[in-house]
Amino acid sequence: MIDTSVFQGKKAAYFTLGCKLNFAETSTFGRMLAEMGVRTIEEGEEADLCLINTCSVTEVADHKCRQAIRRMIRQHPNAFVVVTGCYAQLEPSEVARIDGVDLVLGSNEKANLISRLSEHWIDVLNVTNGSEERHVAKVEVVGRTKDICTFAPSCSRGNRTRYFLKVQDGCNYFCTYCTIPFARGFSRNPTIASLMEQAQEVAREGGKEIVLTGVNIGDFGQTTGERFIDLVRELDQVEGISRFRISSLEPDLLTDDLIDYCAESRAFMPHFHIPLQSGSDNVLKLMHRRYDTKLFAHKINRIKERMPDAFIGVDVMVGTRGETQECFEECYDFLKSLDVTQLHVFPYSERPGTAALKIPHVVSEQEKKQRSKRLLDLSDEKTQAFYARHIGQDAEVLFERSARGKAMHGFTRNYIRVELPVSQVREEYDNQLMRVRLGDFNHDHTALMCSL
Ligand code: SF4
Repeated sequence: MIDTSVFQGKKAAYFTLGCKLNFAETSTFGRMLAEMGVRTIEEGEEADLCLINTCSVTEVADHKCRQAIRRMIRQHPNAFVVVTGCYAQLEPSEVARIDGVDLVLGSNEKANLISRLSEHWIDVLNVTNGSEERHVAKVEVVGRTKDICTFAPSCSRGNRTRYFLKVQDGCNYFCTYCTIPFARGFSRNPTIASLMEQAQEVAREGGKEIVLTGVNIGDFGQTTGERFIDLVRELDQVEGISRFRISSLEPDLLTDDLIDYCAESRAFMPHFHIPLQSGSDNVLKLMHRRYDTKLFAHKINRIKERMPDAFIGVDVMVGTRGETQECFEECYDFLKSLDVTQLHVFPYSERPGTAALKIPHVVSEQEKKQRSKRLLDLSDEKTQAFYARHIGQDAEVLFERSARGKAMHGFTRNYIRVELPVSQVREEYDNQLMRVRLGDFNHDHTALMCSL
């Protein structure tokens, strides 16, 4: 039983680093706390509670987490400070050593975050002022991957129009460069029935678009024996939800059946995000990825045959150990040959405890920068060409609220960002699906202008 008295009338500050899944989880924690009487601080206010949800995808992410924690402590010196997320799970002692942190919760504790928080906060409040115990952080972190087994449900409205529905957590793949399975545990999921209920609740709240999030979404079913495609078929029937997007799918789990289903579906959008990581088969082997470039190219071609206007975003990692110049050139040529829309380029970062550290060929930071730049330029070319093909066409856009006196933005079904000029903006267009005519690029080439 949670003692809610500790929460009444308190003010909280939240900070999230990393992926959409983290943002969705933080937003859910915020909503749960709001139901218990905790409001989010306004600008300039001091918080009673700080919650920091961390990421550990790269060394830079670790550094940003430490900076963010220290900054929150400086800004809210009297707050009860809770740190959770991947960095907290992987490096709990480092987090606990930061003066001012009160509670470090690992991935397994996310499901019980509110009750853990109330217990420990009450402890701290009971300690007399000035006691040294005030700044001895309590650490609740499970050390081994197999012991991380709880599932913290999450379905949250982000800052904009979209809702993020967490359908899966954890990963069983153990790619050689990745620490996520250690940070989030093995693959697990809730039932299709419970996810349907959450999607129906979104529809009741007036939500129109849901993004399915998770760590390795296509691996859905490890807990319940259900299949991802069955989840997709069921969600497609939820009345009131006009759009579903799938945040990311491993190429080997993006089945031809799923592609064919999306092509015919009512509400699953022609929009895919697929992690390739490398376009060199040698590097893919070193990474222990479960596909080769032939399979990847087949998936892209299948999508484009069935949905010629589909937006396809591709993750690529550059400068991994073992990526010789020759391997990178292969990767570049492969990506150039593919009909994809955007590249999300990440420079490789050495992570302690990963198998990749045993691979001998190391790429210099300078070389990583050059390779990233070449891929980002290629990405720009592809995105601009994709957008340009749609100029003059009609499209359906879901608009998002804009600040007063600013242009309004939204996305087409196939994820083209669209800008409505200030002169045509009406408040009531927020969260509305509207037919528009797509015009030329906006001033900074980040969207297509449109008219109603
Ligand atoms: S599929 Fe590979 S890269 Fe993705 S989370 Fe799992 S181990 Fe990490």
